[in-house]
Amino acid sequence: MSRVDDLLIRSRRAVLPDGERPAAVAVRDGRITAIADHSAAVPAAASVDLGDVALLPGLVDTHVHINEPGRTRWEGFATATRAAAAGGVTALIDMPLNSLPPTTGPDALAVKREAAEGACAVDVGFWGGAVPGNAASLRPLYDLGVFGFKCFMSDSGVPEFPPLSGEQMRAAFAAIASFGGLVIVHAEDPAALSPPAGGRYPEFLASRPPSAERRAVQRVVRLAEETGARAHIPHLSAADCLDVLAEAQAGGVPVTAETCPHYLALTARDARTPAFKCCPPIRDDANRESLWQGLAGGVISCVVTDHSPCTPELKRGDFATAWGGISSLQLGLPVVWTAARERGHGLHEVVRWMSEAPAALAGVPRKGGIAVGNDADLVAFAADETFTVDPAALHHRHPITPYAGRTLTGVVRATWLRGTPAGDGAGGRLLGREAR
Ligand SMILES: [Zn+2]
Repeated sequence: MSRVDDLLIRSRRAVLPDGERPAAVAVRDGRITAIADHSAAVPAAASVDLGDVALLPGLVDTHVHINEPGRTRWEGFATATRAAAAGGVTALIDMPLNSLPPTTGPDALAVKREAAEGACAVDVGFWGGAVPGNAASLRPLYDLGVFGFKCFMSDSGVPEFPPLSGEQMRAAFAAIASFGGLVIVHAEDPAALSPPAGGRYPEFLASRPPSAERRAVQRVVRLAEETGARAHIPHLSAADCLDVLAEAQAGGVPVTAETCPHYLALTARDARTPAFKCCPPIRDDANRESLWQGLAGGVISCVVTDHSPCTPELKRGDFATAWGGISSLQLGLPVVWTAARERGHGLHEVVRWMSEAPAALAGVPRKGGIAVGNDADLVAFAADETFTVDPAALHHRHPITPYAGRTLTGVVRATWLRGTPAGDGAGGRLLGREAR
């Protein structure tokens, strides 16, 4: 006789891999053990009835800059993961840059892991970085469990993470292809970028035109085609790239793309303060609607935050000088859901973009869906409730946000990490890639 489950959660709106329906989800030892009918009598030590509050799988945010160690004054593991838990994100993957050291070698990965160990409220994995001179570290980093590699062709914003030259990037693609890894390229062609002619938003926007993204995406597609490396475009802003990506994907080139909540919810007209500054920039209304079409059509598969904080001092000033980065770990779900439902999209699509697809992209084991055998990473989401964004309620280190004062739809009521309430604790584990 098997023992009873630890926890049973009932919801009339469970968002399962095959759609939304009433269900009861059973949890034992941190894993999902059964998905039963809503009214099924399943013996469990504890039970929760969410009523009409939706039950979602925990979000998987594969684009987060935590900055610890080295720039912990910008953001750290404890604060970022607390914000994640409050926002329904149960697993995140940290980008290799903005911390010191950057995650470009085995020793640096060990330093990052040591800083994160015991500090995280949700599960945390790591991307490695490909920079000039670290070709010999790529395979060792992969074998140590990084999920893939990030690189730049333009200035990254920090001196210790330089861009790759054309030849270096080709070599990195070939090396990463040799062991089946994933390469993520910040896609802005430096030849199409210029210093802003002034400090206002239109001048900043003009300095990073859609053509910079399009040319870079074309280059990434060519390299993926030539080398066979799986390539991924992060934070896609320019809808001009969609036809390039669609054509490549239709032709079997292994290239995927993500966009971010701010590109889907905001437009250049909103950008009044440097809180709205990010690279590539937030563009016009028509561009935003085209990104929604790219998402609806599947050319863009993931929506992740690119949570990239800094100190308030660096976020002051004008659009020419302020740090570029928007921090939305805690708000990504309601920001995207608010804009998605206005456009007729369902919760199951949001779950696909923000949990299932990012987990699949990175190959995060046992995440990305409410399915038997997966970690019991679950979110109670009041999808019809509204709230007004109060920066004081944000948990990331410096609560600067372009969403201050906005009314959003969808409130995260509770987040479970492997069946245990997440939030104040440090129950997060360090994730590593597992052999596929
Ligand atoms: Zn980023």
